[in-house]
Amino acid sequence: MDKPDALRAFALQVHDRLCAVYGCPIPYFHDLDPLSELVSSLLSHRTTNRSSGQAFKELRRRFGSWEAVRDAPVAEVQDAVSPCTWPEQKAPRVQQVLREVTERRGELSLEFLAEMPVPDARAWLESIPGVGPKTSAAVLLFSRLRMPALPVDSHHHRVATRLGLLPDGVPVGPAHARLEALLPADWSAQQVYDHHEVLMLHGQKCCFFRSPACARCPVLDLCPTGQARLAPKTADARPADPHPDLFG
Ligand code: SF4
Repeated sequence: MDKPDALRAFALQVHDRLCAVYGCPIPYFHDLDPLSELVSSLLSHRTTNRSSGQAFKELRRRFGSWEAVRDAPVAEVQDAVSPCTWPEQKAPRVQQVLREVTERRGELSLEFLAEMPVPDARAWLESIPGVGPKTSAAVLLFSRLRMPALPVDSHHHRVATRLGLLPDGVPVGPAHARLEALLPADWSAQQVYDHHEVLMLHGQKCCFFRSPACARCPVLDLCPTGQARLAPKTADARPADPHPDLFG
């Protein structure tokens, strides 16, 4: 098995183990149209789900349509999204993205993305200023489009790095393409969704940013970081690397 194949096999091993722990298939948490999912995703950057959910609901309640949000005075939109972090940045960004979609498509809808291959749909979305790979994947995967695109949030990124699915130092943006390339090309949206969700859940429930709970981790035997953390701290005690040289 060459190194890329070994890394792909390792990713599937991690996926299967975590799916058994967290119970795949995982139910989808949203059933929004893709444009609503785009707005929701823009609001969710670096804020809690609760706060961004409140802001999203308030936008819908006050304005009733995305056209009305697009055309409203920015101060009113900013007030509606104030439960989020940085409403003064998010309000104009949401309006600018809504204007951009309208200019490109002649209407405020993203349903047409369903007819495109996933890489083309992602590229179309990411050509909008302010839309990055996490948002484009969220629009395609979490919305009713249910297209197999892999989002990577900070939990997912941290767990993947500690497990060795990513080399150290690869930022979240470039991690999207690297981690997606490890998944089988014929995976369904549900399988891709499960993969993202179990890595994210593992980051929330066990592989914490500070003090990961390695001693009770169900993938400790696969994880070089966990083994190094739990190894006796003596000069010549070195943990066995379970997958050496995967990156050459
Ligand atoms: S062993 Fe530790 S570092 Fe590795 S995935 Fe588990 S909790 Fe995270």
